[in-house]
Amino acid sequence: MAESTSGAVNAVTFPTRTAVDFVIVGSGAAGGIVAKELSTAGFSVVLLEQGPHLQAADFKHDEWGYDVNHDLTWNARKGHPQTFRKSENERAVPVEQALGYAHNVGGSSVHFSGNFWRFRPIDFMEASVRGTIAGTNFADWPITYDELEPYYTKVDWEIGVSGLQGPWDPPRSREYPCPPMPIKGSDVLLERAARQLGLNPYPAPVAILSQPYNGRPACIHCGFCNGFGCEVNAKSSSMIAMIPLALASGNCELRTGCTVSKVNTDESGRANEVVYWEADGTIQAQLAKAVVLCANGAETPRLLLLSESDRFPDGLANSSGMVGKNLMFNGYSSVAGLFAEPVNAYKSIPATRVVHDYYQLDPALGFYGGGGIDGRHPTRGTPMEFALGSSWFGGPTWGSEYKRNLQMEFSHIAAFDGHTTSLPLASNNVTLDPDLQDRWGRPALRCTYMDHPDDIATMKFFYELSMELMSAAGAIKQAGFYPQNGQNGNVHLLGTCRMGNDPATSVVDKFNRAHDVPNLFMVDGSSLVTSGRGQPTMTIMALAFRAADNIIQAARRGEI
Ligand SMILES: Cc1cc2nc3c(=O)[nH]c(=O)nc-3n(C[C@H](O)[C@H](O)[C@H](O)COP(=O)(O)OP(=O)(O)OC[C@H]3O[C@@H](n4cnc5c(N)ncnc54)[C@H](O)[C@@H]3O)c2cc1C
Ligand code: SF4
Repeated sequence: MAESTSGAVNAVTFPTRTAVDFVIVGSGAAGGIVAKELSTAGFSVVLLEQGPHLQAADFKHDEWGYDVNHDLTWNARKGHPQTFRKSENERAVPVEQALGYAHNVGGSSVHFSGNFWRFRPIDFMEASVRGTIAGTNFADWPITYDELEPYYTKVDWEIGVSGLQGPWDPPRSREYPCPPMPIKGSDVLLERAARQLGLNPYPAPVAILSQPYNGRPACIHCGFCNGFGCEVNAKSSSMIAMIPLALASGNCELRTGCTVSKVNTDESGRANEVVYWEADGTIQAQLAKAVVLCANGAETPRLLLLSESDRFPDGLANSSGMVGKNLMFNGYSSVAGLFAEPVNAYKSIPATRVVHDYYQLDPALGFYGGGGIDGRHPTRGTPMEFALGSSWFGGPTWGSEYKRNLQMEFSHIAAFDGHTTSLPLASNNVTLDPDLQDRWGRPALRCTYMDHPDDIATMKFFYELSMELMSAAGAIKQAGFYPQNGQNGNVHLLGTCRMGNDPATSVVDKFNRAHDVPNLFMVDGSSLVTSGRGQPTMTIMALAFRAADNIIQAARRGEI
């Protein structure tokens, strides 16, 4: 066993100047799966991760550390600034974080909420069924739900998903491995209200264990879930479900604290070397027979743009000009209600029921969109964030009345949140900032984003529906919002290396292989063609299993 510079324990180490079969960049939701699949299939793998290898014992209920100091995420204070603007005509301004993600082994699957909706068949062919939308890049996927379904099932059983086949669940070849999570207070209210309105609430599918599974324990309902790592390993991150299997294969070396700066190519245009900084700034370069980028929808396009060369002057794999474009966030809305009796929504996982009756909005409304609503605690149910946030119902924000309100509201509040579609637009994108640099001297991530009018209309629709549901639930006060002027950032980072059959309009093919570079693969949120209705990670993981399966078959045929 050998310990890497930052503590990862490896059963194998590889020399940097001998080509390994695969270098994988990023060990997140997708990267962890690709590493496990390729290494257990017998290929030599070097997995490069810029963050540390934290484990369950490292995670704390430390709101200040996670929310204020951003212990788990890359941000400006750690030397990784970003800039943001709403349109390409504006100068982007520095922000602490517009494109949020965790920098650690397991990526954002470590601290995500675990809401795990499969996309439905319509998501893959909606442009044909609904019609294209002028001014957008709304398109069909090159694959169908049926082609992805076996891999969704693989995610269910290998990662660990809890749920129950509901009226809206897409067709599935196998039941969920774990029964649904017990219902929480906010969702009892949501369920009751939805039934009153003639809707069909059902148990939310989640990547969280409702019972012991695969050697891991069930959730203990600690309530510090969204934005926190799980202290008992009940949350089904790639960190706990995949990475240990990859390391145990004896074929995968995990190098943590290693930030990749560039992918080099040989004279024939094939990727052959990955250059990176170790934590102390030492520059290393690993030779590889093939490269898989799993750095997420923000960092994968940045890496491709930074890998420009004489042969690839606009960035690697960017002959289409689509690298970084079509960034999709998913829309949202939130309505909070105050109840006379305690709701205690701060307990347990974020959400246990979902209403999916408006997955597809009626085209007669005059705009495109759809989504779902779940029940939760507003501001994630963590006390400090709740206390420091502005009062939901307009009371004072200091003094004894504030304290009395806080005491009542924290336990008597519920939120009904909407999660909605985002359209792909070329003008919503990730580019390299011309002025600002990160601690390594790389151009900072520049995000340009403004929700399409249909996306804003959809958020408004879900906001109004949540208001109606909150009244039906019997709230004594209610208030809410949706980003009417557009979002200023998000943690869903999708679409920036979109998948497609046509190399002129897409970056990767239907197996996540770069059209321009035969031994380069982009496997993460960047390959999504449409955004679904929120909760994209189940689909990111299913695509990762599918891409890995096809990479293995192609490698065995000698085609990589
Ligand atoms: C607080 C929060 C809650 C969320 N809740 C949900 C939810 O309920 N449901 C849902 O579906 N989604 C949710 N998401 C989104 C979800 O976590 C992401 O969609 C998912 O993790 C993306 O997977 P990925 O593989 O594309 O990238 P990531 O998981 O972001 O992994 C990318 C990895 O690459 C590493 N990396 C990046 N650049 C480099 C580099 N240059 N060199 C080396 N390593 C690099 C990163 O450190 C990271 O570990 C949430 C996200 C957050 C932040
Ligand atoms: S609520 Fe459950 S899954 Fe979430 S962090 Fe706590 S124990 Fe883990």
